[in-house]
Amino acid sequence: MKHQNPGCGGGHDDPAQTLQQALANISAEIHPVEGFECVATRDALDRVLYAPVHSTVNVPAHSNSAMDGYALLGAGLPAEGERAFRVIGTAFAGHPFAGQVGDGECVRIMTGAPVPEGADTVVMQERVRREDDHAHIGSGHRPGDNVRMAGEDIKAGAVALEPGLLLRPAHLGLIASLGIGEVKVRRRPRVAFFSTGDELASIGEPLGPGQIYDSNRYTLFGMLQRLGVEVVDLGVVRDTREDLEQAFQLAASQADAIVTSGGVSVGEADFVTETLDKIGEVGFWTVAIKPGRPIAFGRVQGALFFGLPGNPVSVMVTFYQLVQPALRILAGIAAPEAPALVTAVLESRLKKKPGRREFQRGVLQMDADGTCKVSPAGRQGSGILRSMAEANCFIVLPEDYGNVEAGAEVTVQPFAGLC
Ligand code: AMP
Ligand code: MG
Repeated sequence: MKHQNPGCGGGHDDPAQTLQQALANISAEIHPVEGFECVATRDALDRVLYAPVHSTVNVPAHSNSAMDGYALLGAGLPAEGERAFRVIGTAFAGHPFAGQVGDGECVRIMTGAPVPEGADTVVMQERVRREDDHAHIGSGHRPGDNVRMAGEDIKAGAVALEPGLLLRPAHLGLIASLGIGEVKVRRRPRVAFFSTGDELASIGEPLGPGQIYDSNRYTLFGMLQRLGVEVVDLGVVRDTREDLEQAFQLAASQADAIVTSGGVSVGEADFVTETLDKIGEVGFWTVAIKPGRPIAFGRVQGALFFGLPGNPVSVMVTFYQLVQPALRILAGIAAPEAPALVTAVLESRLKKKPGRREFQRGVLQMDADGTCKVSPAGRQGSGILRSMAEANCFIVLPEDYGNVEAGAEVTVQPFAGLC
């Protein structure tokens, strides 16, 4: 880890890293957690695949019809005019036709039914004129039409799913289609989190003079939960060196990663970075984003450490932009998806100074004609959690942007349920 001593000039006024640089630094530092468990296929939803899933069968298992129609040998189809084929039986899904289809014969076949011996083509029923026990078929069909070949989706023995995949419903279905009932998934990362601040009261405690309720532990809980990690809530820690050191040790002994809020700026009661420097390693601690800086990133006895700012909006922005991608790597996701970005028309003017990448809170809506529009969600101060609660997206304003006028196209990052 690139060491930066906050006491020796690595401080708040250092030229900050861009978000891109910070993310590159973080991802160079992080390795997936070790260990796996075997779970029932349904319990593998939202878990990360640990070992490849090999197919033991062909999918589909047998060549079958993609249509309701008539199965026959394609070579016998007429090049012009019409030919009559004698209907010798019926094949349903789950009830194959047992006999052999000869020249000039066909079998009435339903979608999903195995294509009978001697046939290789299905003519859809809309293209067939049926008269008693004969099917009259014209030209314009090709051998092999409307047949799904055995092993066309997945061949027996092939790798059906690669390790590192975050399993979605489609993957569960695919695993089930192979007849596999148990999956090896990577252990979930354990993430310990706590709030720092003498002013913080927990729910259930009366508010003393100058106190506020600790909200960061709730937003962090929700975001960690959404990411599917195991959470360890270590409560509120007082602004003393001793309490912080103890909390750091406890967290590092229990978790793969630690997320804290507050105490990372340069105030007189901000001891988080100092403590990290004393008992762990500091990677960097300024990122050119707003809201959000400074942030402490480092390591305490093998656990990753993210010291987020105390302001409630800053916590959520820095978690979304920095901690989320880091935890996805820690979870073993091989190719984390790029954030879904939307281009939208800005409804009212936004103020901004060039320098930092800003994440303003917005409400994204779609017009009846499909145009995406975004308007700022109330007052944008980094302490105003209400702006997050009312918003459904970040309006992303790049470093070099100044003010942005109404009507301009801007990039928007939907919360997608995480915030
Ligand atoms: P700090 O980063 O510790 O200087 O805190 C910045 C601001 O965020 C201060 O106004 C704090 O009172 C507030 N704050 C810090 N931690 C929390 C928390 N857990 N819940 C709500 N507000 C907080
Ligand atoms: Mg504080």
